Amino acid sequence: MYDVAKIREDFPILARTVYGKPLVYLDNGATTQKPRVMVDALVGEYYSVNANVHRGVHYLSQQATELHEASRETVRRFINARSTNEIVFTRGTTESINLLAATFGEEFMQEGDEVILSVMEHHSDIVPWQLLAARRGIAIKVIPMNDRGELLLDEYERLFSERTKIVCVTHVSNVLGTENPVKEMIATAHAHGVPCLIDAAQSIPHLRVDVQDLDADFLVFSAHKVYGPTGVGVLYGKEEWLDRLPPYQGGGEMIQHVSFEKTTFNELPFKFEAGTPDYIGTTGLARAIDYVTALGMDEIAAYERGLTDYALQRLREIPEMRIFGEAIQRGAVISFLVGHIHHFDMGTLLDRLGIAVRTGHHCAQPLMQRLGIEGTVRASFALYNTKEEVDALVAGISRVSKMF
Ligand code: PMP
Repeated sequence: MYDVAKIREDFPILARTVYGKPLVYLDNGATTQKPRVMVDALVGEYYSVNANVHRGVHYLSQQATELHEASRETVRRFINARSTNEIVFTRGTTESINLLAATFGEEFMQEGDEVILSVMEHHSDIVPWQLLAARRGIAIKVIPMNDRGELLLDEYERLFSERTKIVCVTHVSNVLGTENPVKEMIATAHAHGVPCLIDAAQSIPHLRVDVQDLDADFLVFSAHKVYGPTGVGVLYGKEEWLDRLPPYQGGGEMIQHVSFEKTTFNELPFKFEAGTPDYIGTTGLARAIDYVTALGMDEIAAYERGLTDYALQRLREIPEMRIFGEAIQRGAVISFLVGHIHHFDMGTLLDRLGIAVRTGHHCAQPLMQRLGIEGTVRASFALYNTKEEVDALVAGISRVSKMF
């Protein structure tokens, strides 16, 4: 039995009020709240284990190293990677993509080469490739979508050319909620001899993600969106690819031997982990993964699907409601506008009722352009949200609508 009332007790912040009203936190796409076990693990490690990892001969350093490397194993198991060599710790999704764009671009892309992105990418999967485009003279091709917010797979096929070097696509859109058919899209890329990066920032908290089943070449996500701490993320890469990429940043940890004449680099995954890693944060990520794993990713997915369906049905009852993203396969994100009410006004007034939603372009301005709007109001759900909170959102929107 999925006992949401009991689950909520694990998240102390959910008991607080804002403006004297119970908090209804529906901004989980931006970041999730934290279970007590995760925060306790951070504090516990600082108080009882803290020491820099990897180089120390002393007891604490070895213990900290063991915890850090055990966290890597927890991540490996969570996404079913073949080896911990394929799990690179970064600062987050954004850094993971920047790492990949810089190193892949340097090794494999020449002027005139092409990268394929989708129209619903987050800026963090657009701008790194644009920076590369400016430096290297590569071209960006864009997979279009239909009005329901589903990518057009025929058009996708047609974008491939001799010069296509990589495909990068989001698993779940942070605006439309669309769950893209990434397994099929990866297979298409492979049929053209091209690797594929999956941005799993919005899928990893909600779905079972299996990199071997997907056959993803690269997959990235952030700890803070899956109930872990800020400042930690993951770049998964197939070993055969990571081995062929040059280092990203230089510094300690990522070297084997340094002299002023010649430096040799460390093995995977350390080649990409220059400097002191956030070894406390990786413990936090591992405890967050333990937490969702104990609840069951399939149970979480089923619960959130029910909640999202309920929210869609209730929201559609509101006069002049426009929902952006009507994909058949979708995640726990709903973007909308009501009549001519500006998204910012709606968000601000909902906030006064204790309801936290996000407003604006959601770091997806090209998608806003495609939709012909400047921004939306976005409600995004997590494993601890309830039908009562959806009802509060619907009542809040109705109240704001009447004011206009
Ligand atoms: N990709 C997607 C789809 C996202 O939703 C986000 C966060 N909004 C990011 C990338 C960037 O994640 P971060 O800011 O944690 O690096």
